[in-house]
Amino acid sequence: MRLATAEINLSALAHNLKQVKFFAPKCKVMAVLKANAYGHGLVKIAQHLNDADAFAVARIDEALALRAGGLTKPIVLLEGFFNKADLPLLLANNFQTIIHDENQLAAIESAQLEAPIRCWLKVNTGMHRLGIAPAQFNAFYNRLQTTKNAHNTVNLMTHFSCADDINNHKTAQQVSLFQSLVGNIDQAHCLSNSAGIIAWPSGHGDWVRPGLMLYGVSPMANQVGQQHGLKPVMRLTTKVIAVREVAAHEAVGYGGRWQSEKPTQLAVVAMGYGDGYPRHAKEGTPVMIAGQRYAIVGSVSMDMISIDIGNNLHNVRVGDEVIMWGDELPVEEIAKCADTIPYELLCNITPRVSYQYQR
Ligand SMILES: *Cc1c(COP(=O)(O)O)cnc(C)c1O
Repeated sequence: MRLATAEINLSALAHNLKQVKFFAPKCKVMAVLKANAYGHGLVKIAQHLNDADAFAVARIDEALALRAGGLTKPIVLLEGFFNKADLPLLLANNFQTIIHDENQLAAIESAQLEAPIRCWLKVNTGMHRLGIAPAQFNAFYNRLQTTKNAHNTVNLMTHFSCADDINNHKTAQQVSLFQSLVGNIDQAHCLSNSAGIIAWPSGHGDWVRPGLMLYGVSPMANQVGQQHGLKPVMRLTTKVIAVREVAAHEAVGYGGRWQSEKPTQLAVVAMGYGDGYPRHAKEGTPVMIAGQRYAIVGSVSMDMISIDIGNNLHNVRVGDEVIMWGDELPVEEIAKCADTIPYELLCNITPRVSYQYQR
């Protein structure tokens, strides 16, 4: 019996990429595949994103894994390189690098390279994480244009901090600061993550960088992917491994944190934080069995969760499939119940879960 399973719907993935192009029709797409493609499987997901123009990852190892998997599209390293000695590796593998600080620029300038590297100059317009200060922009840009180690095409990038909130003016300010710096420069501009793509058309630029929305999930606070025409790619399921009766006031699970007011039945399902399901999912977090919603009770343990099925009106049985999240049960909703964001739930899927790729 297959227990914890992540079914990955590849036609939903293709649909979501089309939806990115629907939102940003004039833009090239850099598909963001960091963190094992947000828990969906790095190489498999990349293999089914033929219509993307490039891939983006956070670590050199992720980029190397894509090449080892036979993928040939350009790959952008979103944090750049961390060690000057890696530059020949970047060149040999057609990796493009972000330049976000003086150390990286100086390393490029002083390297001995066979050919120029393609660079993306990252400007901090208000995120205050990576990126050069606006006042440094001209100097960095000119140095990149001058050094023979950087390709003449220096793409220009910034990142939004609050694009998931349509009422926050910060994003419009970031767009206008970026425009004021780079507006006259005839190079490709790249600003938007998924939230920017969905909610801030003024920030679309020439390239977009969708991550979460490719996987069918909404980056916007209090919305689900379906509201943006997206389809969830992952369906996380498991099976019922026991159905049992408990008497009123019998404390269930670690710490005895929950007890029923009246006699009830519990379905025990094979899923826990050992599979990546959030341990902090609150009592009442929904799961679905045969089209019915039921509530989690007690603590999520490493391998199991108890579900209150009341008087078992719908005849839940051992071996029944349990949906933890998927089309019918948005991961956005589960994230809320666990006081986190869907990004974290998707990334946290552990190797114990078996992956099933479906066309
Ligand atoms: C992760 C990341 C993205 C993708 O963000 P989503 O919200 O998942 O679309 C885009 N740009 C940068 C710099 C990132 O780190």
